[in-house]
Amino acid sequence: MKFGGTSVGKPERMHHIVSLVTKESEPAIVVLSALSGTTNALVEIGLWIAKGDRSSAKQTIDKLEEHYHNFISQLVSKPEAVAKAKAVIAEHFEFLNIILKISFSEALSKDILAQGELLSTKLFCVYLEEQGIDHVLLPALEFMTIDSYDEPQIGSIKVKLTQLLEKYKDKKIFVTQGYISRNARGEVDNLKRGGSDYSASLIAAAINATVCEIWTDIDGMHNNDPRIVKKTVPVEQLSFDEAAELAYFGAKILHPASIWPAQTYKIPVKLLNTMAPEARGTLITEKAGSVGVKAVAAKDNITAIRIKSSRMLLAYGFLRKIFEVFEKYRTPIDMITTSEVAVSITIDHSNYLREILKELEPFGSIEVDENQAIISVVGNEISQTTQIVKKLFGSIMNIPVRMVSYGGSPHNISLLIPGEYKTQILQQLNRGMFGLE
Ligand code: ASP
Ligand code: MG
Repeated sequence: MKFGGTSVGKPERMHHIVSLVTKESEPAIVVLSALSGTTNALVEIGLWIAKGDRSSAKQTIDKLEEHYHNFISQLVSKPEAVAKAKAVIAEHFEFLNIILKISFSEALSKDILAQGELLSTKLFCVYLEEQGIDHVLLPALEFMTIDSYDEPQIGSIKVKLTQLLEKYKDKKIFVTQGYISRNARGEVDNLKRGGSDYSASLIAAAINATVCEIWTDIDGMHNNDPRIVKKTVPVEQLSFDEAAELAYFGAKILHPASIWPAQTYKIPVKLLNTMAPEARGTLITEKAGSVGVKAVAAKDNITAIRIKSSRMLLAYGFLRKIFEVFEKYRTPIDMITTSEVAVSITIDHSNYLREILKELEPFGSIEVDENQAIISVVGNEISQTTQIVKKLFGSIMNIPVRMVSYGGSPHNISLLIPGEYKTQILQQLNRGMFGLE
C-alpha cells in the first residue's frame, strides 16, 4: 500500500490512512512518500547550498522544521509520543544543519533529499505506536538498491527484503520509505522524483504481493485530464501496456517506471483514492478488460526535430547514425515518423538540444519546433479499429497536426500538435471519442 505526499501531508490524513491499513486482513507493507511540499523544499535547500548561499538554505531549513513541529502538534498528543516525534524532527534537522557546514557534492544532495521519506515514515510509526498498533519499520536503505546505471536491482532487493521479513514472521504491518535507495557505491540515492510509486511496484514484485495498491487523492486514472476538461470518468480496467502508455504520456497519477516490475512479476496494481476508499479506482492487470478507446493524455514541452536529406533516399544506416547522436547525449526519443527523405523525432527534454543539433547538422537540413504537445489516445486494439481512427480525426479536423504515430503499438495512436492547441484538442476529443463535455 503506497501513500503519496498529499495522503500523508496533513496530520488528519495520516490518521485516516491508519484506518485503511488496519482494515487489511493480509499483512501489508506501507510505502510512504514525504509529506507534500517537503521534497521540493529539500531540492531548494540543496540548490542554495550548491550556490553557496547558506543563509537562504538555513532559512528554508528553519521554515521546514517549523512546518514539522506544527504537523506533529496535531499528529500525536500523548506526552511520550510527542517527545518521540520531537526527537525524530530533531535528529533529521540536526543532520540538515550539519550539512550546511559541509562542502556541497552530488552525494550530499541525495542525502538531503532522503530526509523527507525518513521523516514521514518515522513520524507515522510514532503515531502507530501511540495508537498501540503493532508494526515494524523496514529501512528502505537496507534493501532498495540501484546499480551504476541507476537501475533497481530487483534480484538483490528480493533477497534482502525477504531476509528482513523473515525476522518478523508474526507481524502484519510494515512501514517503509518510498523513493530512497542505495546506489552502487553504497551511498544514499533515490529513484528520481515521483519515485515512491516505483518503490511500491518493486517491493510488490520482490515479495510477490497479491496486489500493489497506489493510494492518491483521485479515484483512479481518468479518461482525460481533469485539470483541463470538465467531465472526466475513471477508467475501471487497463492492461499494463495501456497503463504504461498513459503513465508516460502525462497521466500524472502513476510514475511511468512503476509499470514494469508489476508487469514482469504479474502483480495487479490498483489505483485508489484515500478520500473515497470505496470507489473502485483503476485496476491494472495483464488483461485489458474491454476493447476500444480508454483514455487520452497529453505531454507538454515537447521538441520536434526534422532532419531532411536526399542522402536518406535508399540509404541504410542513416537512422542509426541519427539515433546515435541522441544516445550520446542520453536523450530519449519519444515519437518518430519517417518519409523517404526526412525523419521527424521528438524529445521531451532539451538539456542537450544545442549539442544534438550541432551534431545533426552534417546529416541534412534541420528544422526544430519547440513547445509542441504529444496527444496520446490509448485503448485496447484501437489501431485495428477503423471506426476509431475515423472518429479520432473527425473530431479534431480544425487542429494542425505535425506528426502522427500509428501502428507502433496496437494500444496507442499519438499525435504531435503545437502546444497552444492542447486544451482545445483534449476538449474536442472528450466530446468526439467519449461523448463527454
Ligand atoms: N517525495 C518524492 C517526490 O516528491 C517521491 C514521491 O513522492 O514519489 O518526488
Ligand atoms: Mg507521486
